[in-house]
Amino acid sequence: MTRTCENCGFVNQDDYDFCAKCGTPLVEGLKPNNVYVYRAQQPQINKKALIGAYIVTIFLSWSGFVAGIISKHTNFAIFTFFGFFMPFYLVQSKHPTLRKHGLIMMMISLVGVALSFYVMFH
Ligand SMILES: [Zn+2]
Repeated sequence: MTRTCENCGFVNQDDYDFCAKCGTPLVEGLKPNNVYVYRAQQPQINKKALIGAYIVTIFLSWSGFVAGIISKHTNFAIFTFFGFFMPFYLVQSKHPTLRKHGLIMMMISLVGVALSFYVMFH
């Protein structure tokens, strides 16, 4: 047995009291419900991808610092702005954990870029 929504025609599982699509009550006597009836599945965070993002961010934002130490006359610090790409992308994520990591990467990038410019001008 399935429960077909009278409002939108969505075919719901028979143990749903509200339409999974529009929230309309499927059982008489229930008030309309606008909250999600089923728990939306949180996308799994790919740990390897996250570690990769950290490595890329650290490499990009700190490379100018390392290059500046090796060679005083380098404009490599400008390249470090690419280090903001990954954290900037992550802080816009819908996933709170990814946003948190994005902020951490943003801090790592800021320090790296600041150090890169410091060694470039000193
Ligand atoms: Zn519906």
